Order: sequence, then structure tokens, then C-alpha cells
Amino acid sequence: MPIYRLYLSRLKKLHDRFNGKHFGNELGACLFAVNPKWTSTQAEIEFLPHKRSWRYLATFSLALLKEGTASSIRRCLLHEMIHQWQHQNSESMDHGAEFNRKARELRIEPSASATVSKKSARSQGTPR
Ligand SMILES: [Zn+2]
Repeated sequence: MPIYRLYLSRLKKLHDRFNGKHFGNELGACLFAVNPKWTSTQAEIEFLPHKRSWRYLATFSLALLKEGTASSIRRCLLHEMIHQWQHQNSESMDHGAEFNRKARELRIEPSASATVSKKSARSQGTPR
């Protein structure tokens, strides 16, 4: 679907830009997907084993991409990128002190309603 492709290429470009700007280009490539069914979940990042390393997949809700403001989408992407950075450095994903420190550095609010499981981190709630 062309509209999805547009969203996905925008996310990829933003990921490249933020990677250079905020993460010293340390982050590996991230694949992107759109989930049209999510209503309360905004975004999620998963890590999958890939050639003795990891491959990252960030999924965004169609509702956020369609109706969210540019800044709410950027905040959401940065949130998931912090999880990628955490995982690359320590193979963990959480909303602990390190996450909060990085979120403050990037001037985004740590999302209180986000959940983290062993294999993925997911942000829920309405875009603010
Ligand atoms: Zn999170």
C-alpha cells in the first residue's frame, strides 16, 4: 500500500537523522512496520536474532502515523530508539534510570504507560 510505504520511508529517514544527531551513529539498522489495528498501542520495538547479532523491528500504529502530530511521532520514534540503544549496549530494555537519563538528554518525557517485555518494548496511550 503506497501510503504505508510513505510512512515507512519517513520513519527510516528520521531514524537515520536521529541516529547521527543523538546516538553518534551507533545504532544499527532498524526495520519499520505499520499496524493498522492498534488503538491503544502507539509503537513497539522488537529485537530478533540475526547472524549472531540482532535485527530491530519498530512497529507504529497507523492511528499515530495518520493522526499524530509530527512532534508526537518524533517523540515516539526517539523513545523506541532509546530502547534500541539500551538493547545494543546492555541487551536489556526497560524504563530505568539509564532510560530516563537518555530521555531527558533528548528532551522527551519518559512514557509512564509504556510496557517492556523480554522481547519488546511497547508504548501505549494517546499521543501528547
Ligand atoms: Zn518504552
